[in-house]
Amino acid sequence: MKKTELFRLIFQSFSILLFKKDTPLFATLIVTDRCNLSCRHCTLHNYHEKSKYTFEQICEDMKKLYKMGVRILCFSGGEIGLWNGNGHTIKELIEAARKTGFVYVALATNGTIAFDYGDADFILISIDGTKKTHDAIRGESYNKILSNIRNVNLQKGNRLNIKNTGTRKKVPAPNIVIFMEINQLNKKEIHSVCRLAKEEPNIKAVSFNFHTPFHGTRALALSKKEKVQCCREIIKRSNQGYPVANMKSCLRYLVSSDFKKPCRQLVVMDAGEVILCNRCSREEGLCDQCGYFETAEIAMMFRGKLNIWLDALRTYGKYLF
Ligand code: SF4
Repeated sequence: MKKTELFRLIFQSFSILLFKKDTPLFATLIVTDRCNLSCRHCTLHNYHEKSKYTFEQICEDMKKLYKMGVRILCFSGGEIGLWNGNGHTIKELIEAARKTGFVYVALATNGTIAFDYGDADFILISIDGTKKTHDAIRGESYNKILSNIRNVNLQKGNRLNIKNTGTRKKVPAPNIVIFMEINQLNKKEIHSVCRLAKEEPNIKAVSFNFHTPFHGTRALALSKKEKVQCCREIIKRSNQGYPVANMKSCLRYLVSSDFKKPCRQLVVMDAGEVILCNRCSREEGLCDQCGYFETAEIAMMFRGKLNIWLDALRTYGKYLF
């Protein structure tokens, strides 16, 4: 991120804080709901068939988001690798997002399809535990994902070949962050995923979420006591030097559900429709069981607490610059 962009972002954030505006700053743009997996915790795969969501429509919707105030954009799905761009690519979407003015552009993918991440700032790839547990939750996909991560085309034009390097040294790579949703099936595997994030050269960090119990997936939800235990484990591993991309200061607010919901600084663009916070805001009562760490983090930042902002800088500063 360039310094001028950073100052624009800081200025905009402080204007939201000072004038208590409800302006969104972050958006997720769903490019497709098509997905090649059928994960146990997900009710949104193949939800809408948006095969006709064209490059031009997405560009128009990006402009709408920018006009609303959004400056940080994440392309998501479904599986974004299945977006039918009619000759256009995800890389072109990232370039178009930058031209529109977004200062930070991220991608969320299940990692099973290799595609060019372009110069995305942040790439979230789902891994939900050890191979055995991950495959039980998401279907057999762990080995494929790891192989794609290891062979990702690096920004500098190099290709990392783990077998030949024989080293665990970190090399310049896009900000690949593992995304783990903690639920009843994998709650004991936080340490394993932290280890993977530390040991794989192409992975920068791990970011956790708790399962948000959408209709039909309530059996996977954690109790408050279990969430507290998981938070202790996350803090312990973070203090031991494992690369955890979650703000420790916000964990207690997430567990006690003590933050503003739905979060006003987040929106989702879903086939031309703007939804506040996340698509789960459509399901009555779900916000009280919100498991999204980043939602609690953003909501708490805009409550205006200095320690939360310092923690945000400490936690995410290394990925922003
Ligand atoms: S559960 Fe509610 S607060 Fe949490 S991400 Fe979804 S809409 Fe936002």
